[in-house]
Amino acid sequence: MENLLEGKPIAERIKNELRAAIATINKPIVLASVHAGENGGADAYVRSQQKTAKELGITYQLHRLNGSVREEEVIECVQALNADNAVNGIIVQMPLPPHVDYTKISASIVPGKDVEGMCPENIGKLLFGAPVVVPCTAAAVMEIIKSGGIDLCGKETVVVGHSEIVGKPLALLLLEELATVTVCHIGTSKAGKLEEHVEKADVLIVAVGKAGLIHGEWVKEGAVVIDVGINREKGKIVGDVEFETAAQRASLITPVPGGVGPLTVTMLMRNLVSLVTQGNA
Ligand code: NDP
Repeated sequence: MENLLEGKPIAERIKNELRAAIATINKPIVLASVHAGENGGADAYVRSQQKTAKELGITYQLHRLNGSVREEEVIECVQALNADNAVNGIIVQMPLPPHVDYTKISASIVPGKDVEGMCPENIGKLLFGAPVVVPCTAAAVMEIIKSGGIDLCGKETVVVGHSEIVGKPLALLLLEELATVTVCHIGTSKAGKLEEHVEKADVLIVAVGKAGLIHGEWVKEGAVVIDVGINREKGKIVGDVEFETAAQRASLITPVPGGVGPLTVTMLMRNLVSLVTQGNA
């Protein structure tokens, strides 16, 4: 398909840039990963991080905690990694066990080692348009848009989903590019207004986690469609957008799998290398 925006070639190009940057750093680079409890999705993400780290010559340290771990113990683990000079970056895998508050955990990571860009200081820098690190999935979406040669200035851009890790940081990044940004969420759907917002989008980005939420016929002719959603349906991985019908109308569209997914881990590694080269980690 001519209008497919695939993430893998972009990820390969960025990994080559990272290899060149890493070759100039005269010390081992260590990424510490804190993983509390058992979760199939997080396990798959960890394996993908391990594989990419190995490809780039980055040491990946996995710190496994059991699902009944107390919140203070997770914070102690992060604080020990904050204090360890051999560790350059820290990622805490999501989802955490329900009794552990992600806001407190992300706030316990020192900004200079926060590879996910989610601690309050790094989110603050994003708000002011000067981030050192950008939340990985939002960064992956922006790279895909850039690779499609899309000028966002003045474009009607609709983001569906307002989570802290995807929708909210994405809205800030799109505003930096002078897009006109509408953010839709559960309230929009409850008010029966999702379709009317989607229909006006020149650029549509969907990050919800509900297969088929966006009907293909809602997509404006010539729109750019970025589908972040990952859903398992009848043994297959699908996105949030009805792909076949949307692809007939879109000028560019990301597949699921193979769109945003392959880029997300690469963005994590880019954040790590940025922190090291800027002397933060
Ligand atoms: P969250 O569950 O944290 O957020 C989902 C968002 O969708 C919330 O803002 C929620 O609103 C909103 N929402 C829920 N139902 C509706 C609805 N019917 N209409 C409109 N909005 C709705 O998920 P994440 O942001 O973490 O992830 C979103 C999706 O992206 C998931 O499928 C996830 O697997 C995928 N993902 C993919 C990545 C990749 O690399 N490709 C990386 C990260 C995530 P409210 O909170 O108000 O209910």
